[in-house]
Amino acid sequence: MSNILSLFQEIKKLESPKIIITTHHKPDADALGSSLGLYNFFMNAGIPSQVISPTDYGDFLNWMPGEESIINFEENKLMCEKLIEEADYIFCLDFNALSRINDMGGMLAKSKAKKVMIDHHLNPESFYDFEYWNCERSSTCELIYEVIQLWDGSLMNKDIAQCLYAGIMTDTGSFRFPSTRPLTHVVVSELLKFNIDHHSIHECIFDSSTESRIKFTGYVISQKLEVISEYHIALMSVTQDELTRYDVVTGDTEGLVNYGLSIKGIKLAVLFIDRKHLVKMSFRSKGDFPANEFASRYFKGGGHFHAAGGQSELTLEETIVKFKNALPEWAHLLK
Ligand code: 5GP
Ligand code: MN
Repeated sequence: MSNILSLFQEIKKLESPKIIITTHHKPDADALGSSLGLYNFFMNAGIPSQVISPTDYGDFLNWMPGEESIINFEENKLMCEKLIEEADYIFCLDFNALSRINDMGGMLAKSKAKKVMIDHHLNPESFYDFEYWNCERSSTCELIYEVIQLWDGSLMNKDIAQCLYAGIMTDTGSFRFPSTRPLTHVVVSELLKFNIDHHSIHECIFDSSTESRIKFTGYVISQKLEVISEYHIALMSVTQDELTRYDVVTGDTEGLVNYGLSIKGIKLAVLFIDRKHLVKMSFRSKGDFPANEFASRYFKGGGHFHAAGGQSELTLEETIVKFKNALPEWAHLLK
């Protein structure tokens, strides 16, 4: 395994390197922002690359420069399989376990391409040839900024800055999570020098809901929120029928779990969503509760200390029972 420092020189020497950039399924602003930030960097260096998303993503990310060039794996499996097979380099951004890219994981493992992992989640799997990993960074976008500085900072531009700003802003909860460090603000201040319209970026991401999304959010909060005061937990669950009834589309449930955590005194907020073949869970915590450890122990998941996710093949009701049954063991961190 090599450090990433000399990688750009290596790529520049090649005639026409085939570069794929990919990220985790249902990408959020950090996943897509880091991918398109890197894509725009290569573009500025005169090196074409192709971003492949394992799935679709929310419309609130459509404004990102270069977004129109992204291929959705689920809609173009054969084409993506060929691209992955023939690639020289595959950049894996904002994830570090192949299960996070669904069926693409197996294809990626088989590909002869050199894999480059750039990520800020704990416990990376070792599937890569190059790495730039730091779980102390707020976001993968912050890491991409650092990588660009290491490679050739003169190639930074406004397009790259807009993409990276979006990911840093969302992964830090608009600069309020503990992962926001002095260095984060230094990077953001450098990005702002490219004259990016940070106000519009915030508006595109946070003030672009459909009416049905707001009504769905209101419904879940008013009808589906359960507070378990003994453990300082706020729990919400959504059935398949409710997803259909409110026309819920990709991206609509993003951030919903945070409402639970915004209740005074709550230490752990959980959102359960019944997605046909599996129940998807989001965990958000405050203080000493390790959301990622909990998610990985019971729900094949992971993530960060205060923000993690997982899944279950049980029914929604059984999953909630399993969750509640696990609580006594964690009482010392929740009570
Ligand atoms: P979210 O709740 O927004 O889906 O995810 C929160 C965090 O947990 C993100 O950093 C995401 O990458 C991580 N995460 C979500 N689901 C999973 C999962 O199933 N496995 C792992 N390892 N991480 C997850
Ligand atoms: Mn991230």
